[in-house]
Amino acid sequence: MKPASFAYHRAASVGEALELLAREGEDAKVIAGGQSLVPLMAFRLARPSALIDINRIAELRYVRRDGDALRIGALATHRDIETNAEPGVLEGYSILPRAARFIGHYPIRTRGTFGGSIAHADPTSEWCMLARLLDAEIVVTGAQGSRTVASSDFFRGVFTTALGVDEVVTEVRFPAPAPRSAISASARSKERSASSSSPTDAWAAPSHPEAEAREKASPRASAISTACRAWVTVSAPAGSAP
Ligand SMILES: Cc1cc2nc3c(=O)[nH]c(=O)nc-3n(C[C@H](O)[C@H](O)[C@H](O)COP(=O)(O)OP(=O)(O)OC[C@H]3O[C@@H](n4cnc5c(N)ncnc54)[C@H](O)[C@@H]3O)c2cc1C
Repeated sequence: MKPASFAYHRAASVGEALELLAREGEDAKVIAGGQSLVPLMAFRLARPSALIDINRIAELRYVRRDGDALRIGALATHRDIETNAEPGVLEGYSILPRAARFIGHYPIRTRGTFGGSIAHADPTSEWCMLARLLDAEIVVTGAQGSRTVASSDFFRGVFTTALGVDEVVTEVRFPAPAPRSAISASARSKERSASSSSPTDAWAAPSHPEAEAREKASPRASAISTACRAWVTVSAPAGSAP
């Protein structure tokens, strides 16, 4: 099938994208890599009245160290993460490039974006899973400015987030990795790996007891989080500090 007709606008800045979103109303959608949205449109499962193309907003495409933390611009592609060779930038986050190579295939990784994956909130997505497991924060920008949302609050369910219709994801921030901690593959994730390629090796990555406690206390434990924990067990190696 072919998509239903839609208006198309290319934004040159985040400000312009927000203006276009406000002008076009709630049936408009941002398009980034188009790797999830375009197939949905082709099947007419999504029929946006207008597309706001943010691909030319160069300042949203970066992978940057900020002290011990990592900042990823919304338009960094999966391939940008997979191939990042800047010294020290992904130090402590080797799980990210190792996971990137499992995302779809090459053309998808060259066009699909980090922010698009997070905004789309597919619970089988590598980035959504890792954002939850590593306790990332999502920076969301709207007409009133930017707000930072913990991933535990951002993901509200399958394909459902705290993002407003007039907002865009501009950055994803990963906190400093906790020392001496690890993510280990569960039996379930090994099963998944046997049936479809997915990241399952034991990787050096933080454990997040605080995030787990917060989730237990929250009546809104997200479907994404639940799905993630079905695939992967977060654990600290024996002898590590609590
Ligand atoms: C064949 C195939 C295989 C795939 N395999 C995998 C896989 O193994 N693992 C995986 O994780 N993903 C997979 N994907 C999905 C892929 O990673 C997409 O790139 C990703 O889910 C969406 O990113 P995008 O930039 O393409 O977003 P788009 O398709 O452009 O947008 C997706 C949604 O997010 C919204 N959006 C996009 N960017 C923003 C933003 N900055 N702010 C607000 N809203 C925004 C759009 O409005 C839309 O609703 C696959 C896709 C295909 C077609």
